[in-house]
Amino acid sequence: MGKYKVTYLPDGEGYTIPSFSYHGSTEEDWKNLKQYLTKEGKSLMSIGSFLIEYKNEKILFDLGIGDIHYTQPEGSGDGGELLNNLKKAGLDRKDITKVIYSHFHPDHIGWTSIEENCKRILTFPNADYYSSKNEWDFWKDNINHPLAVDQKGFREPLEGKIKFLKDGEEIIPNLFVKFEFGHTPGLINLILNVDEKRIWFMSDMVHSDLQFENPDWCFFSDNNEERAIKTRKNTFDDLSKPNTIIANSHFVEDAFGYLKKEGEGKYKFERYTK
Ligand SMILES: [Zn+2]
Repeated sequence: MGKYKVTYLPDGEGYTIPSFSYHGSTEEDWKNLKQYLTKEGKSLMSIGSFLIEYKNEKILFDLGIGDIHYTQPEGSGDGGELLNNLKKAGLDRKDITKVIYSHFHPDHIGWTSIEENCKRILTFPNADYYSSKNEWDFWKDNINHPLAVDQKGFREPLEGKIKFLKDGEEIIPNLFVKFEFGHTPGLINLILNVDEKRIWFMSDMVHSDLQFENPDWCFFSDNNEERAIKTRKNTFDDLSKPNTIIANSHFVEDAFGYLKKEGEGKYKFERYTK
């Protein structure tokens, strides 16, 4: 778009048990949504980062899950492809100028640090790192939370380095911060305005386009379900405005799409490629 280039860089995939992952949905609901499920009946989501390029700026919004493979009763996941996909986009990790975290769940911070000479170092040595202060403070106070950040791999390398963004702040020309607290206490969205269009990087306000039709369904990691539902309901109207491209790293097939309003409180998502 214009002088801006936006690319989705997948890191891997996650699989969850749908009626467990989406609070408010039932097994009956999923029987009619087989197209959203794998052969094994799991719901799939992509995990990855958005690369925003403008002049000398090479910005990553979120950092995937990292080079890990996990299996838990409630789901499984694989990461590890982010740096390969960055290379395919023609960039080295030293080229990244800014890292912006939407929030600190494990599937968004995985590539914060790597090991070099037995030490954890920041993966993107020339980047400035940003989040909201709310997000940083919340996870500082909640080290025993089931989704708590890794102290050695995340918090320690970033301590004293992380910078805090304000709501409405313009990070580079036409790229704005939008606070959408709910999924976590400090969730950030980004909005890039170019010409008459905008790309809205909505992060984990929703985890599947099914939540546009079912805003009351809460993903199991929604920190404050009531607030997460409110955030969804309050933003869908704005998200469905003309010339708004939605970007979400968890969507499968295509990370980009449009939201169409079909009636009061009724929305339908369409993939960009359609
Ligand atoms: Zn996520």
